[in-house]
Amino acid sequence: MQVEYFCRRCGSHMATLNLPAVNEAALGLHALTPEERADIITFDALAERMRVKSICDECAAGARVGGDRKPRLLH
Ligand SMILES: [Zn+2]
Repeated sequence: MQVEYFCRRCGSHMATLNLPAVNEAALGLHALTPEERADIITFDALAERMRVKSICDECAAGARVGGDRKPRLLH
């Protein structure tokens, strides 16, 4: 199972985890309400991939508030 993390604000790809199985507790998702989970998690059954919206360091620091939406490559 591939789990991809994207910034919900600027859309940048943050990280990709390859997990043998989805363990929501390990991902820290078990504490979310069903509404929150539906909002931040997108499960692509065909691709066996899960997308999780989060906040990147720059957005967390407020650097990108109102800024551009240019993707940031990590690799
Ligand atoms: Zn961001």
